[in-house]
Amino acid sequence: MFHVKQAEDSDTTTLSPLGDSPIARELADLTARRKALDEKTVTLTGRTRIITISNQKGGVGKTTTAVNIAAALASVGARVLVIDMDPQGNASTALGIPHSADVPSVYDVLIDELPLASIIQTSPESELLECAPSTIHLAGAEIELVSQVAREHRLRTALEVHLESVAIKPDFVIIDCPPSLGLLTINAFTAAHEVMIPIQTEYYALEGLSQLLGNVGMIQKHLNPRLHVSTIILTMYDGRTRLAQQVAEEVRTHFSAQVLETVIPRSVRVSEAPSFGQTVIAYDGQSAGAIAYREAAVEMIQRDAAKADAVKEGDA
Ligand code: ATP
Ligand code: MG
Repeated sequence: MFHVKQAEDSDTTTLSPLGDSPIARELADLTARRKALDEKTVTLTGRTRIITISNQKGGVGKTTTAVNIAAALASVGARVLVIDMDPQGNASTALGIPHSADVPSVYDVLIDELPLASIIQTSPESELLECAPSTIHLAGAEIELVSQVAREHRLRTALEVHLESVAIKPDFVIIDCPPSLGLLTINAFTAAHEVMIPIQTEYYALEGLSQLLGNVGMIQKHLNPRLHVSTIILTMYDGRTRLAQQVAEEVRTHFSAQVLETVIPRSVRVSEAPSFGQTVIAYDGQSAGAIAYREAAVEMIQRDAAKADAVKEGDA
């Protein structure tokens, strides 16, 4: 549906100065996709979806996906809370949220039981986009949590209390995880309904995936029965390489129900945006990366609505 379209679908007549070059076709394709997106309307269910973005492999695009999906969801009218569970604080940075050591953060929520509401900040990008920031103190939380009561449930409890107390609940809570299975990630898994896995379409993409699925199974069994892998998103895709195509095909074969049709291309704009304290949606909303993340966000909402409809029909 939102697949990278073939060039022949595009109307290149408006781009005559560039002729029928690959760039002209790419531009025409982007224009068509942008137009299609602008014409789309989405319906939110009114229920809060809590999604943990996880992959134990480092540098696969977890944080990039967390902040850009969050911003893309906000751009179509969803209320989104991003919880930064990574001591690196990259999600907080990308959302333009101050997170120096003296800022109240997720650390204070997990260790000192501060209410989430007291640490949440609104992103300068959108009124609909909020963030519970991480600070460097969170690195210590991994060890401090070990001796705490209900150490695996601290985020879940804080989030439940928060969702009960706010007048308008977010449509999405997106949790960005560090690339390890410590107590921070376990807290994220315990608090969530869904796991979203970004997969980098490169060598060894599937390495560690079975371990991750095994860990999700363990959490499901012992800590959080509602947890499931709902979404897989292919990132840093370079369609010119045979390898990227092969990895994408393999992932689609194994996880056809979970993989989004939208793929996120490798894009300089996407990698530049965080250094300006912005998501790619704000930094260059017309770029290929921004459009792909907006398509992915729409697809996530539509798939959920389709699932809800199927359940209703089954009940009828
Ligand atoms: P970590 O495991 O350290 O938390 P991560 O999985 O969160 O890493 P990111 O920080 O999101 O991964 O991305 C790793 C690097 O890849 C970053 O430099 C980011 O800018 C870059 N990157 C991510 N997605 C894209 C993309 N679509 N195009 C180009 N660069 C990208
Ligand atoms: Mg990260």
